[in-house]
Amino acid sequence: MFDARRAWNRPLLTCAAAACAALVSLPTRAADSREATLAAAMATVTTGELSSHAGVLADDSLEGREAGSRGGLAAARFVESRLQDAGVKPAGDSGRFAQRFNGNMQNLLATLPGSDPALAAEYVVIGAHYDHVGYGSRRNSNGPIGYIHNGADDNASGVSAVLEVVDALTAVDYHPRRSILFAFWDGEEKNLLGSRHWVRQPTVPLGAVKAAINVDMVGRMVDGALIVGGSRIGYGSRQLLASERLPADMHLDFTWEYKENSDHWPLCAAGVPSYFVNTGLHEDYHRPSDDVEKLNVPGMQHATQYLVDVVMRLADADELPKFRPAGRGETPELRPHRERPLPPLAPRAAVEWAAPVSGDARGVLVVAAGVDDQHNPLPLVAGDHVITCDDATVHSVAQLDALLLVATDSVELSVVRSGADAPLTVTLPLTGKPLQIGASWRADEAEPGAVFVTRVVPNSAAARAGLAVGDRIDRVAGEPFADADGLLLRLRELLASDTTEIPLRVETAGRIRTIVIDTRRPHGEPDPTL
Ligand SMILES: [Zn+2]
Repeated sequence: MFDARRAWNRPLLTCAAAACAALVSLPTRAADSREATLAAAMATVTTGELSSHAGVLADDSLEGREAGSRGGLAAARFVESRLQDAGVKPAGDSGRFAQRFNGNMQNLLATLPGSDPALAAEYVVIGAHYDHVGYGSRRNSNGPIGYIHNGADDNASGVSAVLEVVDALTAVDYHPRRSILFAFWDGEEKNLLGSRHWVRQPTVPLGAVKAAINVDMVGRMVDGALIVGGSRIGYGSRQLLASERLPADMHLDFTWEYKENSDHWPLCAAGVPSYFVNTGLHEDYHRPSDDVEKLNVPGMQHATQYLVDVVMRLADADELPKFRPAGRGETPELRPHRERPLPPLAPRAAVEWAAPVSGDARGVLVVAAGVDDQHNPLPLVAGDHVITCDDATVHSVAQLDALLLVATDSVELSVVRSGADAPLTVTLPLTGKPLQIGASWRADEAEPGAVFVTRVVPNSAAARAGLAVGDRIDRVAGEPFADADGLLLRLRELLASDTTEIPLRVETAGRIRTIVIDTRRPHGEPDPTL
């Protein structure tokens, strides 16, 4: 990774891009065998090969791989030999892997041709810089300088990962629909020289590059977090970057941090939705202590398997995300405002509830009761104990609030009143609208066709199904919907039909799963956790 604190700001090129939804789906033909192929490709990624590649690149003999130095040239020869062995097609200058620039510097480029005649002319780029800072200088080292900076994480880790992606995709008998360009950038640590050079002199048509992934520092995964930057830079990116295949102990962190600190930037400046995959900074960053022993190799394996998964899906998608210029202005500071949860809802009946005073009393105590919409007194009096609401046994104020929020226009309450021989049944009218399944959501302009969950009522059908604030929904009953209103309309149709189970496709921290809303228990059985 390039230290952006030392970079000067350059104006970005402006990019014209149509703001339309990326409708993304897999080709249905041979979907099962494709799924098996993807699993087989992911399974070829091993910790042994990752650590072997990183060991070569971060060995002292390569002297920190400074661009243009003899160590840099040795690193280039190693990468080139791996590309030759994999049998991918050279995509540098005149039939070679190398694209030379600035004298001794060189990017190394290779392609895997696409299989779909209609899409093979388009490219998905996956790249990693292979240079580092050599012995370090005041300009690029956090010290001490004058010692070999091996750059095991920065970026032997990313190069090893992309080499393993090359091996995985060539090991299986399946060519994705679009062509894939594998890029090993040089001179990144000297202000992104290699990727900037390639954008000025692209070796495949720049306009044909539809998406790019930059892998820079994936060797220090902490708590299973793989950081994915740039999801705001293309419409619908997050739906495509999220996966159904993440291991249980890994998640994606879709950070809003996105800046001129690595090779995603020149491609983004050229209007390509360009994503930045990494595992974050650490105390050995740009120091001689960034060594192979400190790599989290199982974490690298998880990250690399994800890269195989996402590259194949990008290359196979019907449509790829359109560039979204506004994404560059969305800083991490904006995020809490855009993703803020909604406050609790106003009560739907003018009743003050409390837990029963005496230990043996059941249900919830009525402290005070007001009037309804028409100013008629509500059918409750102070001192009543509400013991059931519709069919559910009432056992807490939070649970009763939740039941009232999702009820339609009234509820039947069973009430113990002092002086009465038996519990009374009363109908409590409610104001306001029910919260359909017990959740609220809002649209996200960057993710057309998905909504962001802003509120989940405890004990509601949504809560029971496992929906949580911050989740994103992008399918209802297996179908996409256009926008937030589209989801609401479809849900109302389904709730009014005989359907008893409504599947929702939900993304949580990069993991896609399907949850099922059970409509048979709209008011729920008592939730023992409340
Ligand atoms: Zn760096």
